[in-house]
Amino acid sequence: MSSISRRDLLGGAMAGLAGLAISGGSERADGAVQERNTAQTTARVRPRGQVGPLDLKTEPLIDAHSHIWTPDLDRYPLAEGFTRDDMQPASFTAEELLKTCRPLGVGRVNLIQMSYYGFDNSYMLDMIAAYPDRFVGTAIIDPEGVDPAAEMAKLASKGVRAFRVQPQFLNLPIDRWLDHPGYESMFSYASESKQAISFLIDPDALPEVDRVCRKYPETPFIVDHLARIGVDGEFREPEIEALCDLARNPNAYVKVGAFYALSPMGPPYRDLAPMIRRVVAAYGSHRCMWESDCPFQVVDHSYQASIDLIQSHLDFLDDDDRQWLLAGTAESLLFPAAN
Ligand SMILES: [Zn+2]
Repeated sequence: MSSISRRDLLGGAMAGLAGLAISGGSERADGAVQERNTAQTTARVRPRGQVGPLDLKTEPLIDAHSHIWTPDLDRYPLAEGFTRDDMQPASFTAEELLKTCRPLGVGRVNLIQMSYYGFDNSYMLDMIAAYPDRFVGTAIIDPEGVDPAAEMAKLASKGVRAFRVQPQFLNLPIDRWLDHPGYESMFSYASESKQAISFLIDPDALPEVDRVCRKYPETPFIVDHLARIGVDGEFREPEIEALCDLARNPNAYVKVGAFYALSPMGPPYRDLAPMIRRVVAAYGSHRCMWESDCPFQVVDHSYQASIDLIQSHLDFLDDDDRQWLLAGTAESLLFPAAN
């Protein structure tokens, strides 16, 4: 398995975390390709899960963010511009994810559409169909598509609870990076469907997120990876303040994770404690959710180390906070059927 080092992540920080971002426009599959892939998905026999049903007694925790992909490129082709070599590690299937997380008490996961597949969410949707009690999804759709709201409605029936959005999709100026009719349509529809919008951003994108949080107060908005503060080794006060200030919007949530990337010191990631303390104080634990960001978390670090930071190393959290971070927030926002 080739490794993703912190150095790689630092190098990729300008354009987005290596492996996390759809960068530039090359992945923006055109509509014809997307339609053909959708038709293929419909025609296929749905895969059946190979893992037993969820057991909340032994697997009570929820991972709010992991990616999956399969080496089966015939069945699930990569988007234009990607090759097999881009897939690092070469394989991280739904079953490999479950094998990683279940022994540590994590029975449910919010799957995040992987950039390798562009706008073709097929593999993620098939795995949600195969494991409907374990997975929900965060899809990526084209904000410049014909009818983004209709696409969101269609995906809602397939277990998609959120949509990933990042500045690199449309490359608008960062101070108005969400000022686009396609996003307006998405955010407006999400206020009705209660699907969340999940932002992969750096701190410079936060002011615009604050603007849309206020404009669409009924739409749940999530900031991924603590706005990637720390990824370059620096914890700048104005950036932490901006992330905490966003909490004034009751519809703003934060994913607390990707520790492998954000912590200069590495496991047990205690250097992240001061920032997490302030974020949890600002948002309340009921608006913070733990995420592993697998498989990247488990390339050089471990899944256990990520859980351990929340479970054992943050003494400012009480048991109630830990329950919200490790299950409750994601359950109420992303797994509504379980409520
Ligand atoms: Zn991720």
